Amino acid sequence: MNTESNPEIAQPVKSYPKRKVWMKTYGCQMNYHDSERVMDHLGELNFTPTEDQNEADLILFNTCSIRDLANQKFYSHLGETKRIKEAKGEKVVIGVGGCIAQVEGKELVKKYRHLDFAFGTDVIDQIGDFVFRSFSGDSKFAVNTWDRSTNYSIETKITHDEPRAFVNIIKGCNKVCSYCIVPFTRGKERSRKVSEVRDDIKKLVEHRGVQEITLLGQNVNSFGKDNGETLTELVGELEKVNGLHVLRYTTSHPYDVSDELIAAHGWSTKLAPHLHLPVQSGSTTVLKRMRREYTKDHYLGLLEKLRASKPGIVVSSDIIVGFPNETDDEFADTIDLLNRAEFDFIYSYTYSERKGTRASRMDDTLTDKIKSERLQFLQKHQLEIQKNLRTQMVGKRYLVWVDGDSNMGGVYKLKGRTPCYRIVHFEPPVSGGELKDFKWHWMEVEVSGATALSAQAKVIKDWGINPPTIH
Ligand code: SF4
Repeated sequence: MNTESNPEIAQPVKSYPKRKVWMKTYGCQMNYHDSERVMDHLGELNFTPTEDQNEADLILFNTCSIRDLANQKFYSHLGETKRIKEAKGEKVVIGVGGCIAQVEGKELVKKYRHLDFAFGTDVIDQIGDFVFRSFSGDSKFAVNTWDRSTNYSIETKITHDEPRAFVNIIKGCNKVCSYCIVPFTRGKERSRKVSEVRDDIKKLVEHRGVQEITLLGQNVNSFGKDNGETLTELVGELEKVNGLHVLRYTTSHPYDVSDELIAAHGWSTKLAPHLHLPVQSGSTTVLKRMRREYTKDHYLGLLEKLRASKPGIVVSSDIIVGFPNETDDEFADTIDLLNRAEFDFIYSYTYSERKGTRASRMDDTLTDKIKSERLQFLQKHQLEIQKNLRTQMVGKRYLVWVDGDSNMGGVYKLKGRTPCYRIVHFEPPVSGGELKDFKWHWMEVEVSGATALSAQAKVIKDWGINPPTIH
């Protein structure tokens, strides 16, 4: 895409010196989306991205505090940048943003002498000021203030030319899940207006060729509660956007999934036939300790209603294994839920304690060994469920959108996803074809085989970059 001729895309201010930025992002989609905003702002200051930390003028980390592993990786990466600072001195500026910076920014700047600044989750749109300050010699500062304005209004920034984009519709979270640090790192919920999101998405579709949008938020089902609107109303408005083919939303909280939204999955021509609906545990007593506000039966009831509204809809989920004092019976309840829910895939983890949360103050009798044995058992069990589900695809035809490639056993294949988000591998429709010829083509394929994680297929028809009717 020729960005120079497109007035919708901010052009770099030529008077700023040319500089390079290296950025590392940890954690969830929200963080990756925030990083894209940061990179867009930096583009306006004449920064271009580099993969080589050693040639960067600016080194940035966008951090996550949800999982201990991401935390540890970040501290280790930050420590490694000390040698770059020692070698280049003030010629390189190092900054840390995101959830860890929101909670511990001041301590980080004090503790790591080579760190120039830290900025929290609610001030990312001020990154230009922070960088400017730092390059002007004003370093060693941390900003983690909350934006207290009642109106949450932004414009989506994307720095790529791909037809898939994420659009933030709500920030913060008003829930109090006992294991989660997010309410401390992202603040209270605030939603954008339906009309603003609709106009924003229209622009992305009309000017950037976007065909698939994922609406983002810590709890998207809470969207609009602060200003009298709903996610279902937004889906209704987006139904009118010509050229938008697939609409997704994440992350959902089961307590806030309304009957109207479930009905929308039936009438919408844009909503993907897939929903990621994190359950976390199949035990009602564990869910109570997690303060998730729903029961196992309520969750299963939601799935029943969803599948009645949109037959064939595919559901995926998140599971935490080994929450403090999880008993054998409680764990068995989760396995029972897997059997009944038939999730298409799950993200599963052992419980990881986050300092400052209610769950971190619970006495826990479970050993790491028990937790990891339970996780292994659960993942093996889930793979059997997935294999069974994917085997049922064999002999059927699907529309897939090509987004990658692979080389399995020496055979070059394209990789695509069905609108229900299943991965399918297949040989290109012409001999010697490569990803560059087919990326973002819609193809009709017939599935010939399947494993627990993906399906194999052959191409029936290449529709090019515009899909036929999808759902
Ligand atoms: S809904 Fe619960 S788990 Fe999700 S961000 Fe909010 S507090 Fe955390």
